[in-house]
Amino acid sequence: MTVRLVPTIDALRAELDLARATGRRIGFVPTMGYLHDGHASLMRAARADNDLVVASIFVNPLQFGANEDLSSYPRDLERDTEISAEAGVDLIFNPSVDEMYPFGPVLSSVSVPALSNQWEGATRPTHFAGMATVVTKLFWIVGACRAYFGEKDFQQLAIIRRFVADLSIPVDVVGCPIVRADDGLALSSRNSYLSESERVAASVLNRALRAGAALIEDGESSPTVVMEAMAGVVGEEPLATLDYAALVDPATLEVPERIPATCRLLIAAQVGRPRLLDNLGVNAPGGAP
Ligand code: AMP
Repeated sequence: MTVRLVPTIDALRAELDLARATGRRIGFVPTMGYLHDGHASLMRAARADNDLVVASIFVNPLQFGANEDLSSYPRDLERDTEISAEAGVDLIFNPSVDEMYPFGPVLSSVSVPALSNQWEGATRPTHFAGMATVVTKLFWIVGACRAYFGEKDFQQLAIIRRFVADLSIPVDVVGCPIVRADDGLALSSRNSYLSESERVAASVLNRALRAGAALIEDGESSPTVVMEAMAGVVGEEPLATLDYAALVDPATLEVPERIPATCRLLIAAQVGRPRLLDNLGVNAPGGAP
C-alpha cells in the first residue's frame, strides 16, 4: 500500500472533491502524529468502512497552553508514514503551521463551554477551544466524510460530537475503542516521555479505573464512593499525582447523584513529565435507568 503526503489545503481539497464526485466514500483520521497502534486502529477502522482514507498529521499550536509541550511534542514523519501505509491510509495531509494559519493568530474560534470547562478543561482552559477550532477547520478542508476519533480522549469526543450536531457539519463522527498495552496503560504519544520506573507506575490509572468498575458491578450506587476508591488506588502510587478521578454521565460529563445504568469513569494523573488520561465505560447492574 502506498501513501502520499499532501501538504497543502488546495491540493487535498481538489483530490477529495474529485473522489467524492466519483462516488468514493472518504474516511478521515485527524492526529498530531508520533503514531502508535491506537492511531493505527482508527486508520484500520476507516479503511474497512471507506473507499479513500486520509489521515492528518498536524501538531496544532492552538490547543497547547503557554507552558505546555508544543515545541518538544514528539515528531517522526518517516515512521508515521510507514505506520499509516501499513494501516491502509491513502493520503496524509501534513500542512505547515503557515499553511493552516497564514494570517498569524486566528481570530475565530469554535467552543463548547458547557462540555469543556471541567475535567481536562479545568487545568487546560484554552485546550478544547483550540482543538474544536482546528477540527472544524479540518472538517471544512476534508469535506463530507466519516471521521474517526479514539474514546481515549473521551471529553474531546463528546465535544466534537456536540459541535458537529449543533453546527450541522456533514461529518459522521465514529468513536473507536481505546488501545492499551499489556498492563492496561492506554497508548499515547506522550508515553514516550516516561522513564522506565514511571512507565511501570503509569499502569495505576487503569488499575484505578478497574477498581471503580468492580465496585459498580458489585452494586455500589454512590458516585462519591467510587471516585474516592479510584483516588485511593492512585494515592498508593508514589510516582503518580492524581488530577481527577470522576464518575460521569457519558453525554453531559456531569457527576450524577446516583450511578446511572451506563456511566463513564474518567481519570487523569501526572506521572513524571506527562499528564496521562484514561477512561472506562461501565454498565451498572442495578443502576437507575
Ligand atoms: P492525538 O494524536 O493524540 O491527537 O490522537 C489522535 C487520535 O487518536 C484521537 O482521536 C485520539 O483519541 C486517538 N487515540 C490516541 N490514543 C489512542 C488509543 N490508545 N486508543 C485509541 N485511540 C487513540
